[in-house]
Formats: sequence, structure tokens, C-alpha cells
Amino acid sequence: MTLSIAPRTENALPAVEPARIIRGIKPYQAVSSLNLIRAQPDRTAYKIDWNESTVLPSPNVAQAITGFLSENLHVNLYPVLDSANLIEKLSRFYAIPEENLLVTAGSDEALNAICTTYINAGDPVLVPSPTYEHFVLFAQIRGARIVRWYAEDPFKSDLEGLLAQVKRIQPRMVYLVCPNNPTGVMYRPDEIAQLLQAAPETLFIVDEAYGEFARATALELLRDYKNLVITRTFSKAYGLAGLRIGYMFADAALIRDIHRVVSPKSVGILSQLGAIAALEDQDHLNRFVDAVEQSKVQIAVWAEKHGIECHITPANFVMMRFEQAPWVVRQLAEEGIYVRDRSSMEKLQGFVRFSVGTPEQTDGILRGLESVLRGIGQLEL
Ligand SMILES: *Cc1c(COP(=O)(O)O)cnc(C)c1O
Repeated sequence: MTLSIAPRTENALPAVEPARIIRGIKPYQAVSSLNLIRAQPDRTAYKIDWNESTVLPSPNVAQAITGFLSENLHVNLYPVLDSANLIEKLSRFYAIPEENLLVTAGSDEALNAICTTYINAGDPVLVPSPTYEHFVLFAQIRGARIVRWYAEDPFKSDLEGLLAQVKRIQPRMVYLVCPNNPTGVMYRPDEIAQLLQAAPETLFIVDEAYGEFARATALELLRDYKNLVITRTFSKAYGLAGLRIGYMFADAALIRDIHRVVSPKSVGILSQLGAIAALEDQDHLNRFVDAVEQSKVQIAVWAEKHGIECHITPANFVMMRFEQAPWVVRQLAEEGIYVRDRSSMEKLQGFVRFSVGTPEQTDGILRGLESVLRGIGQLEL
């Protein structure tokens, strides 16, 4: 027997209204090219819209997961609680105590849990922008009052400006992505220390989703500051976006409080095993980070030669500006190149974000981009 459900009409009212706080929140616009690409398996495609790794993860990942599945298939059992084995590895890898670590289902779960733990309705939360918007959604769901702050030049840091804002507002929380997505702006640890000092009762989230590419971290600040949480992920440089696993560093007291809102079984066992295997293959990670670095040099040279405004970031993406950005994005998709249009974000008019992969991939992408730009006369022959 099949259950037949009446077709939904566009503007039908739901039988049950969501909570008041949810009604006013705009949904996060998540558009991925994944299904489009899967539907055309014979076509060369470049998925460079979500800053995922463009190469497969360490072969150890597949080995660990298939090994587990073929040996005992114990997926009838709940996973190792709190990803305890991964915590042990991370603790050794970073040389920090386990009590300063928490593993979550991607850094998205970390950001959400931090918001749940600390935000009271009406609390001001300072968001240097433009930045990763998913955090803003999590904060809004807790009833935060989002306060945006824009540096004069979106591609430059402005410590003085940010410090002044922090001192003036004394926000409950500050969300600082380092390097920032999508602008690449970075604040050094000594600069972050000044912010932490300026507002000791403000919780600073430093999102290091791209830390491996920048080969930088604010981790050393944990020794001296109790108002800092650093989030990291296996989704970007480690190439495990599909497994949904990340982690955070913070003072032990903060970790204990955030832990209260995170389920001990939120990360699946296959994800835990994959992350351990990826962490243990640093050579694989370093090869990809090196490849991305080479590609960025290649892109900079290309952009310079063709007179295209291009911002190379310390992460695995670059930003390019075009007169007719949405049109360029559509034409690139025709060529099988899927990028992220950021041109409607405040301060980023005309900008398109390209994730960066290996030099071979970069060759293909730049060739496609050249042919699109020639088509509109933005490029000399
Ligand atoms: C991609 C991204 C994330 C999401 O990471 P997950 O670990 O996959 O949830 C978080 N923050 C920033 C800045 C990102 O760009």
C-alpha cells in the first residue's frame, strides 16, 4: 500500500506554524552543483563552488572505512562516544590536553552548539562581514541581535576599526573567520590577542576552516585567554566534506559547557575512522596544500596578464571581479565550471569566488574562463 499525500500548493499555509523566532529567519541559500555534475558523468566538470577539496582524501580513509565494514559491520552499534579515539589523536597531534577539545558533526555543528550555549535572546553578536553566513543563521535562531561591521576595504584587515567596535558594543560574541571566507582577510594571533584583551567577557569564535591552507592557527592563545573558541574542520583541506566532521579548541570550562548541548553520538563511526586516517596522513594533506599554493601563483600570473582584478587568499579560493558577474557565472556553468557568485554580497559587487585545486585543474579552469571572457570581449585574443 502506498500512502498518497495531497500535492502541495506553493503558498499553502502549514498546519503547524514554526516557533516565532524561526518565522522571521531567511533560509540559508544552499545551492550546490553536485546533482548537476552527477547527471552528466561523461563531461569534464570542475566543482569549485563550495571550497571542498578538489582531490580525493588520503587512500587510508577508504581503507579504514572499508576495513571496518568488511570486518564486523558493527553499524548496529552506536559510535564511539564523543569521538574519544579521534580526540586522543588530535590531542597528541596538537600537543594540547584532551579537555580542551570537542569533536562535532562538521564545524557547522560546532558553531550551532556554541550559539546554543552562549546566546540569550537579544544579545548583540558582532559579525565582521562579508563572511560565512551560516553562522549568522545559527545566531539568529538563538535570538541574537546581529551587528555587522564592515572594514573600509573588504580585502584588508582593520584591527583598529574592529577593536573600536568591540570596545563600543561589548558584544556577547564575535565571529571571526580566519582566513575569512570569502575575502581571505586574516588577523594574526597577536592581533587576536588584542581583541581578546579588549573584551574579556565577550566570547570570540575564531573559525579556522581554512587554517591548513594558511598554515596558521590562533591555538597558542588558549594558554592565556579564557574567552576564545577555535573551530576547525575535516571538510576542506582534508577532503572529508561528505563525512561531516570537525572539532574545536577552547578553555576546558568552555568545552564542558558546550559539551552539554552536543550529543555524544552525533558523529558517526565511519566519519570518526575517516578523520583519524586522514589526520595520520599529513603527507597527503601537505601535497594538496602545496598544489593549491602553486595554483594560486598560476592564477595570479594569469589575472595580471589579462588585466582581471583578482584577490588571491591564504585559503583555497580566490576572488575575481567581472563587469557582468552573474552572466560570467552562467557561462562558466555551460563550460562545466561551477563557481560561487558572491556579487550580490555587500561590498563584493561583481565578485565571483573560485575554489582552487591542483595546477592541472587550474589549467582547465583558466582555459574555460578565457573562452567565456573572449565571448564578451572582456579579454583580448
Ligand atoms: C566551509 C565552512 C564551514 C563549514 O564546515 P563544515 O565543517 O563542513 O561544517 C565553516 N566555516 C567556514 C568559514 C567555512 O567556509
